[in-house]
Amino acid sequence: GNKSINAKLVLLGDVGAGKSSLVLRFVKGQFVEFQESTIGAAFFSQTVAVNDATVKFEIWDTAGQERYHSLAPMYYRGAAAAIIVYDVTNQASFDRAKKWVEELKAQGNLNMVMALAGNKSDLLDAKKVVSEDAQTYAQANGLFFMETSAKTATNVNDLFYEIAKRLPRL
Ligand code: GDP
Ligand code: MG
Repeated sequence: GNKSINAKLVLLGDVGAGKSSLVLRFVKGQFVEFQESTIGAAFFSQTVAVNDATVKFEIWDTAGQERYHSLAPMYYRGAAAAIIVYDVTNQASFDRAKKWVEELKAQGNLNMVMALAGNKSDLLDAKKVVSEDAQTYAQANGLFFMETSAKTATNVNDLFYEIAKRLPRL
């Protein structure tokens, strides 16, 4: 029969990487050029149908600022999935993403589904982070990797769909 799964999902990553924009694209199908900075964290929910289940994502979009770092465990603790976002035009944001992965591996759920999202893939001319490097890093650390664009919607639904497929079936 068709199963119903509730899954807590957290987005982590540098300020400006596009976490809120990915959520806005996924939940409302919208994009804004001047997305306001997230304060603390924001909550959203959205449902995805995969072949054998309906997954209701309970999404925590975190701020990313260092001064909110101590709050992060509240959002990733108990999470079934995490999306670690970096900006493909910003090498420092990729380094920051790796730090989040380390923290999740040390403190998060053992069977958490982790996705690495290289966002702003529409900005081809400004690209700094080589896809192969991110792919290699993701594979070595048990994440799956996608390049996304919240602006053009490229790979955004696919990202959540791939997570839904990978969640453990109860
Ligand atoms: P957050 O701090 O990680 O939540 O990042 P935001 O979602 O607030 O996005 C930061 C800025 O990047 C905003 O001005 C967005 O409009 C822009 N942005 C987000 N995603 C994309 C994208 O895929 N492509 C482009 N070109 N800009 C994006
Ligand atoms: Mg935000």
